[in-house]
Amino acid sequence: MTVKISNKIVGYRVKKADTSASEHQVPVQADTKPVQMNEYIERPDFLLGTTYKIKPPIAEHAMYITINDILLNEDTDHESRQPYEVFINSKSMEHFQWVIALTRVISAVFRKGGDVTFLVEELRSVYDPNGGYFKKGGVFMPSLVAEIGAVIEKHLKAIGLLESDEMSETTKRILAEKRAEFEASQSAATNDDTSNDYPANATMCGKCSTKAVIVMDGCATCLSCGDSKCG
Ligand SMILES: [Zn+2]
Repeated sequence: MTVKISNKIVGYRVKKADTSASEHQVPVQADTKPVQMNEYIERPDFLLGTTYKIKPPIAEHAMYITINDILLNEDTDHESRQPYEVFINSKSMEHFQWVIALTRVISAVFRKGGDVTFLVEELRSVYDPNGGYFKKGGVFMPSLVAEIGAVIEKHLKAIGLLESDEMSETTKRILAEKRAEFEASQSAATNDDTSNDYPANATMCGKCSTKAVIVMDGCATCLSCGDSKCG
């Protein structure tokens, strides 16, 4: 093959014989490669699972979302926990048909392997045309599908496939202090059992979609994610 060199030659080196490169390397055997998730992996007789309970106000009964994981390359340096299948159970039958369809499709995506984290964004961005709802704790969910996506996100964070955005202890402490100070300044009856909820007059946070923004000393602060604006 002839190659025409039109630029100036500024350096060169002699090509080594092809054999020398591999001589001193330990040959890599195909069967020592870590197993990646793929659809041909046979389902073991038992799998580790986690069940999450959600109680969307738009469904009559609670829903139980079970995600089973498979352990690949167990007891090796490449050990990894991958989601394998998802089941959703509920006494409610109203959403049965599409819930079954959704779980089957999600399970199939899990078993195909590769990066499955895209599912979270896809599901979380589904908006119910009837408007979403607020979960206990004031977090806005645009739809039931989005809440299922949020559960999958939580699970992928728990098994380390998604980075956890856990707040630092310092940030948590500062927010707890701010909250206590705010509640103390509001003499209204806030001593009822709503410890999980944010102050009743809190407004929606644009960053984390939680009704947790309070205004103190001219600063709007979100008690959930810590987002703050002063004005
Ligand atoms: Zn927030």
